[in-house]
Amino acid sequence: MFYSLQGEGAQQGRPAIFLRFSGCNLWNGQESSRESAICQFCDTDFVGTNGPNGGEFADELSLVEQLLQLWPHQSSSELNRKNRTQSDKKFETKPFVVCTGGEPLLQLTDKLIEMFHKYECIVAIETNGTLPPLRGIDWICVSPKANAPLRLREGDELKLIFPQLNLQPSDLADLNFKHFYLQPMDGPHRDRNTTLALQYCLKNPQWKLSLQTHKILNIK
Ligand code: SF4
Repeated sequence: MFYSLQGEGAQQGRPAIFLRFSGCNLWNGQESSRESAICQFCDTDFVGTNGPNGGEFADELSLVEQLLQLWPHQSSSELNRKNRTQSDKKFETKPFVVCTGGEPLLQLTDKLIEMFHKYECIVAIETNGTLPPLRGIDWICVSPKANAPLRLREGDELKLIFPQLNLQPSDLADLNFKHFYLQPMDGPHRDRNTTLALQYCLKNPQWKLSLQTHKILNIK
């Protein structure tokens, strides 16, 4: 768990607590098996639970309480206190929690979402879209992967890493999302991929360009 700015997509620039779940159903996270994985361009370490504030939690409450310690100036007890004034509420900014991974829908539960809402959090996910969603998630960002079945076909934001062999933006353009983003694939061809994505967006204005600004700014 860590506190930073959302670097990508429609929420770019928004302060958020990132809750990174371990494990993915499209790659086991081991470099030795990257070439045989369904998803081969992952830029995230999602193996294990030894990251900052990581671990295995006894229950939902202990996870949420630890996570809320990361939100500035508001402890979980402050957030949940009953006697806030109207003025407090007006200026309060609810904690924005981005559940990511790995693939968060492998572990996220209804009970955890309920607990987040009890503590007045806004819950977002970043998912590869291969698993059925849970109810009550406030912001759904789907990043489809070529050669993986897409089951989550509606949401707030569709973010396609571009280009991908066997998955074209036009394959996804009719899905039910509010925002459509192309994000240049990182790696040795990032500059070329950025040019390709930019050109595609200019020709197809349904699509917007998403840059990984956390990498440009060198923040987590
Ligand atoms: S689906 Fe996402 S988390 Fe899984 S390997 Fe691909 S990029 Fe990484």
